[in-house]
Amino acid sequence: MRVAIVGGGWAGIAAAVALADAGHDIAVFEMAPQLGGRARSVAGQPDYDNGQHILIGAYRDSLALMRRLGVDPELVLKRLPLALPYPGEPGLRLPPGSPLIAFTRGVLAHGGWPLSARLGLLAAAGGWLAHDFRCAAGLSVAELCAGLPATVKRDLVEPLCVAALNTPARQASAQVFLRVLKDALFSGAGSADLLLPRRPLSELLAGPATAWLGGRLRLGRRVQSIEPGWRVDGEAFDAVVLACTSVEAARLAAPLNAGWAAEAQGLRFEPIVTVYLHSPGSTLPAPMLALREGADAPAQFAFDHGQLGGAPGRFAFVVSGAAPWVERGGCAEAVLAQATRELRWATPPVVDRLLTEKRATFACTPGLARPPARIAPGLFAAGDYIAGPYPATLEGAVRAGLAAAQGVAAEAGTAANGAASGSPTKTP
Ligand SMILES: Cc1cc2nc3c(=O)[nH]c(=O)nc-3n(C[C@H](O)[C@H](O)[C@H](O)COP(=O)(O)OP(=O)(O)OC[C@H]3O[C@@H](n4cnc5c(N)ncnc54)[C@H](O)[C@@H]3O)c2cc1C
Repeated sequence: MRVAIVGGGWAGIAAAVALADAGHDIAVFEMAPQLGGRARSVAGQPDYDNGQHILIGAYRDSLALMRRLGVDPELVLKRLPLALPYPGEPGLRLPPGSPLIAFTRGVLAHGGWPLSARLGLLAAAGGWLAHDFRCAAGLSVAELCAGLPATVKRDLVEPLCVAALNTPARQASAQVFLRVLKDALFSGAGSADLLLPRRPLSELLAGPATAWLGGRLRLGRRVQSIEPGWRVDGEAFDAVVLACTSVEAARLAAPLNAGWAAEAQGLRFEPIVTVYLHSPGSTLPAPMLALREGADAPAQFAFDHGQLGGAPGRFAFVVSGAAPWVERGGCAEAVLAQATRELRWATPPVVDRLLTEKRATFACTPGLARPPARIAPGLFAAGDYIAGPYPATLEGAVRAGLAAAQGVAAEAGTAANGAASGSPTKTP
């Protein structure tokens, strides 16, 4: 089949590679001058990413896709056992080994929490496990964790929630949060490991994908319309995968399936701000450090690029769920003040640059209805926002891309079987 893929983020790349591997003739339309979408290196400054990204060991399909494109994840990512150190505090550290035992040992060994807090967390985790990490769809993370000790909420639940769901705990879906916990903490050795990029994002996937796709790639092409049949800006295809943003997918799908488009259009977004600081000669106590967010402290995490194979003296401070800071302004100054206050520096840090992604991810709220992958026969959508167990993440995007590719292939198979069973030789 001739299949058009509209959008070249991680979802579009995953769909394109899977369809090409299955023998289909593909074309990838991407409106930007480069692949990568929301996980890209900044055009013209490949040393900077549009935002600090982290992967975890449970990102099975993303890691497989990287390998398929000739990238060795163990070389381009730094694998660390899950640890959430704060400035001057070792925080939670998971020892190696079977996830359940590692989690129990890590929690019991936490020196900063009273025993009652540690036992309270283990009791709650046992309850989640007993219910197979399921809960009522309408529950928020804050409601789910209401009974947990305040220190556990502050040092573990809230930073993990905003990092994984990019949505503050009081507005975030408990069901999605529990699924992330299940896959990260309880699904096989290494699944909770942090995988921190050692190379710019362009080298993780987009660059290798550009080389792999070659002439099948149409960069700088914003698709204007899709017509039934299928025609992409007038060009004929047998099937189409809309792997663009939900806003663009809604615009393109509106004339074809108004209900689907309305659902995609209904998603709300949360921003992420990344503030790069520069301080020659400085290092952080760990490559990744958790920070306590507050009224005058926007960032939840800091990354030391010098310890990650990047430029020494460069630090990325991440502000997830950043809507209040985007509204009121002054985020870079507040991050600089927070960093100066909370960390030791060899030379005074200065703001290198501030990158704001206003529509970084969809707001992952309780009971959220997300559009399904199938829009119409031969027309599928892929992207981190498609209905599924995950929040907006690289892994969610890749899985959605693979699912769309499977959907296209399955329909092609059905059509082929139908044609075959209707043929004179097979019909009695
Ligand atoms: C600052 C930031 C930090 C993040 N941190 C993390 C993290 O640490 N871990 C993690 O797992 N996830 C993280 N994410 C989320 C992750 O980046 C996204 O979930 C993922 O990149 C989404 O991929 P996608 O392919 O679904 O969509 P996108 O990346 O948005 O791709 C859609 C593509 O479609 C193109 N397009 C749109 N309209 C058209 C059109 N009409 N024609 C042609 N092309 C079109 C766009 O240019 C874009 O390239 C972060 C996101 C941001 C912004």
